[in-house]
Amino acid sequence: MKRTAAASLLLMFCFTAFAQKQSLLKLKYEENYTPTYSEVIEMFRLLDRTYENAVLLEKGKTDNGKPLHLFVINNEPVFDPAILREQGKTVLLINNGIHPGEPEGIDASLEFADDILRNKDDLAELLENTVIIMIPVYNIGGHLNRSAYNRSGQTTPYETGFRGNAKNLDLNRDFTKSDSQNALSFYEIFNEWNPDVFLDTHTTNGSDHQYSITLIPPSPARYPKVMQEFIQNDFVPALYNDMKKGTYEMIPYVNYIYHDPRQGMALFQGSPRYSNEFATMFHSLGLVTENHIYKNYSDRVKSCYQFIQVLAEYTSHNSKKIKQKRATAIRESMIINEFPVSYQLDTTQFTMIEFKGYEATDNQLSPVSGVERFGYDTSRLYTDSIKYYEFWIPSEKVKVPEYYLLPQGYDEIIQKLNLLGVRYSTLQHDSVMKVSVDYIDDYSNSSQPSNGHYYHNKVSTHSEIQEIQYFKGDLLIPVRQEKIRYILEMFEPKAEDSFFRWNFFDNILDQREYFSSYGFEENALKYLNEHPDFKKKMEEKRAADPEFAKDHRAQMAFIYNNTEWLEKTWKRYPVGKIYE
Ligand SMILES: [Zn+2]
Repeated sequence: MKRTAAASLLLMFCFTAFAQKQSLLKLKYEENYTPTYSEVIEMFRLLDRTYENAVLLEKGKTDNGKPLHLFVINNEPVFDPAILREQGKTVLLINNGIHPGEPEGIDASLEFADDILRNKDDLAELLENTVIIMIPVYNIGGHLNRSAYNRSGQTTPYETGFRGNAKNLDLNRDFTKSDSQNALSFYEIFNEWNPDVFLDTHTTNGSDHQYSITLIPPSPARYPKVMQEFIQNDFVPALYNDMKKGTYEMIPYVNYIYHDPRQGMALFQGSPRYSNEFATMFHSLGLVTENHIYKNYSDRVKSCYQFIQVLAEYTSHNSKKIKQKRATAIRESMIINEFPVSYQLDTTQFTMIEFKGYEATDNQLSPVSGVERFGYDTSRLYTDSIKYYEFWIPSEKVKVPEYYLLPQGYDEIIQKLNLLGVRYSTLQHDSVMKVSVDYIDDYSNSSQPSNGHYYHNKVSTHSEIQEIQYFKGDLLIPVRQEKIRYILEMFEPKAEDSFFRWNFFDNILDQREYFSSYGFEENALKYLNEHPDFKKKMEEKRAADPEFAKDHRAQMAFIYNNTEWLEKTWKRYPVGKIYE
């Protein structure tokens, strides 16, 4: 008995000694150095060559012609997502370098991949239930545009990449319009792997405080009820608690409401153009870490590493639960009758959280301008309890249709639907169909382009029932499918980052036909004679409005806009809706 125990102890020791291999990577974040693009890829290649249970894949192109890489870590040499899903494994996707000036996640992911593969501290245990997949560098074009002058105010690492990609796009605003090849390749990865948990790593300079790492957690409002409760009561509290047990405590991303975080902050809820919010449309738990620019680079990388470990542990240890919640949430989404198209912060509800800050002051004397400015006094530390507003509520909802009808000419949109695995059928015959259509009553856009578009920041519509000619090959998209939230977010014109908002349907906003002042005269006269009520209205308007009475063109337009000649397609959103 004794001998057996001793033997197994020896065996265990040998196994552990054998199982924990030496680190292969030489990361230099302690020296404020973050690897170049080729160094990053070389290190992942080395891990791929060394470990049979990891692989570096090429997944489509990016805008500068180089392939987007995906590094897959499993506990055995099986890398087919369909097989892994069947085995019931959860998938954790970590995206790095979307903003290459914010590279903590690149270093941290490399170190974590190395550690989990060499089974440091028994980390490999996490792979029993979970596959970890990593995008080493998402914005490759930006990462290659390396300089010491890319982020003013950020002193370390000494050199980083640039925010814009090869087409000067901010890729973290590109997830719904997907103008970049990077985003289209990401769609393929996302659809193929269907990650349960998604993390995007960033750095922020928005405020000053004592923490190295902050978190933008998933906003409950963006999910069905079952996931709202899970996020609020289980998932997010567990992440903060587990971080507290380590070296680096974490707080919510400091999205202050009134200038100084001490007076309260709010959960940052963006919109689906951002990576984490893109994930919410697929019932995936989307998170963002924001490391704090003013802390030293080593602490930033280590705190990011600690969070990756905490997140991987939670994902692995709660694998079944996460899968169940997602599956239930999808079923819940598929029977909704109303869908929110805008949200507002609920300012009536808040929780008190502990906050370790620096005293803020409005009267720091600037040695540059000689004028007093806002700033933080980092010699005056405080710990206080502050208000945290963490609930968003829908401010407008629309009725959920059963189908959308999309004319086949919108091939850029169809490409996105295909990459994301949205199910649809095509019409077998030319058909006139009675559908509900939206007219764009009013819209506006900023005077400056935003990421290559004149985004419509205001949209108002009314709907009409009309008989519309569709053609063989046009798309009939059933709304009640797994990707329902994506479909609604993209096709409801008023939704925050819809195809309409991002100019995919601007072709309907100007008129194609019009009238000539003299050529329309005969028809105008005929129309007035045939419509005595309208004629009366026109005479009243002339009597009441002397300017109108003097303006021939205005009077003709008044008539034209009331006749059958006015084109029905003007400002008519081309995606038809069927409600029953
Ligand atoms: Zn960022």
